[in-house]
Amino acid sequence: MQNPIHIIGGGLAGSEAAWQAAQAGVPVILHEMRPARKTDAHETDGLAELVCSNSFRSDDSDYNAVGLLHDEMRRCGSLIMAAADKNQVPAGGALAVDRHGFSNAVTAALTAHPLVTIARDEIAALPAPDKMDNVIVATGPLTSGALAESIRAAAGVEYLAFYDAIAPIVHRESIDMSKAWMQSRYDKTGPGGTGSDYINCAMDKDQYENFVRELIAAPKTEFKEWEKNTPYFDGCLPIEVMAERGIDTLRHGPMKPVGLTNPHTAPVGEDGRKKFARSHAVVQLRQDNASGTLYNIVGFQTKMKYADQARVFRMIPGLENAEFARLGGLHRNTFLNSPRLLDNQLRLKAMPHIRFAGQITGVEGYVESASMGLLAGRFAVAQRQGRILANPPRTTAMGALITHITGEANPDTFQPMNVNFGLMPPMDEGKGRDRKLLYTQRAKADFAAWLAAQ
Ligand SMILES: Cc1cc2nc3c(=O)[nH]c(=O)nc-3n(C[C@H](O)[C@H](O)[C@H](O)COP(=O)(O)OP(=O)(O)OC[C@H]3O[C@@H](n4cnc5c(N)ncnc54)[C@H](O)[C@@H]3O)c2cc1C
Repeated sequence: MQNPIHIIGGGLAGSEAAWQAAQAGVPVILHEMRPARKTDAHETDGLAELVCSNSFRSDDSDYNAVGLLHDEMRRCGSLIMAAADKNQVPAGGALAVDRHGFSNAVTAALTAHPLVTIARDEIAALPAPDKMDNVIVATGPLTSGALAESIRAAAGVEYLAFYDAIAPIVHRESIDMSKAWMQSRYDKTGPGGTGSDYINCAMDKDQYENFVRELIAAPKTEFKEWEKNTPYFDGCLPIEVMAERGIDTLRHGPMKPVGLTNPHTAPVGEDGRKKFARSHAVVQLRQDNASGTLYNIVGFQTKMKYADQARVFRMIPGLENAEFARLGGLHRNTFLNSPRLLDNQLRLKAMPHIRFAGQITGVEGYVESASMGLLAGRFAVAQRQGRILANPPRTTAMGALITHITGEANPDTFQPMNVNFGLMPPMDEGKGRDRKLLYTQRAKADFAAWLAAQ
């Protein structure tokens, strides 16, 4: 009998990891603390409980990155996808599920598996290698306090649980550069900078004041009861909270116009050169990934509802047709600075017998979390068998996500990430929908080759 793989946390990621390992013939002990110890958001003792929406988002694997991730997971025999497919409810092009049927199906499949033992216990500290030599931690955004403290200490960081201040991220190619321009404030070059590192979008007085009014008026998501007592860090106030403090607050904060000249409107002097001219307000976007396909709107973390975010942010000159790779948000979370702390096999560099999976690795969303569980399960099996399983290529949805969180993302500004095409190596051919199809065709071919090589 082989030593088991220990998986801590029976959520989306832990359940998938357990299934992948057991299906590969390796025994698993899945530790889940509920019902003995509850979280502030889970309501049942079922595995893979969905804590909020019942949607796995788009199921379109030809034109949508999360749909592509569904497809890759199905090809790997994913338990999460099989249970979702069996418990689907009508939701247009999205894959939505009956949450109880879904969780019951995952619980039943794992309970019935001869190689899976479900232990209803809280693991309060990272286990030493002589106790558990191959561990996956998949305890999610609501990791219990004692374990979170142990992870924090092992990772050598000051904080592990905090508010996510998520600013929206825009696809570079959807920004209208006939209105926007590239420039760093005061043309500063800084380390690695060029003097034109930011994309800038200028507003005149009317545009700015309309924008501020819409920010304040737009509907916002409510904090859950248990989130209400967690204070904001002052550095990540929602943009609409700043806007409420006074009409000019944003012009003195994230939208300050100083040190920037809009070349599209700057007056031309007698010498024929453009003269310095300050805009009323400027929105800045900062490059978000190494390949420069994604830009985040600096300082625009928000609690506005998703549909309203898209509407209000498209009022910004240059962003009228913006496509969002991720919308903004603010909720309590627990996640590691993975680009700094994890290797490309999702192992804690400081304790390589410990692997992480799910939301705690800095991915965002049910499907993304489950997909990191799928990979962690397969990596752990390979390790038990004395092999190393190569990462899926970056051209695939799963490969793009793991590459982003364990290497590509900037550790200094790392924030949780949804899967999106901007994480993949850019393609020049095609436009719009046609280009998306080219991305997914390339991904499907490369994923099939990766699977066949295992
Ligand atoms: C309030 C809230 C709402 C969210 N809403 C959405 C949404 O609508 N859509 C979306 O796509 N994503 C949402 N997310 C983000 C995220 O995708 C989900 O949280 C997802 O469930 C993460 O999967 P996971 O497996 O990493 O964690 P979870 O599914 O939370 O699983 C972690 C499991 O670990 C257990 N556990 C924790 N500590 C211990 C311990 N010490 N020992 C043993 N067991 C432990 C927990 O009980 C839990 O069962 C939300 C997150 C939060 C916090």
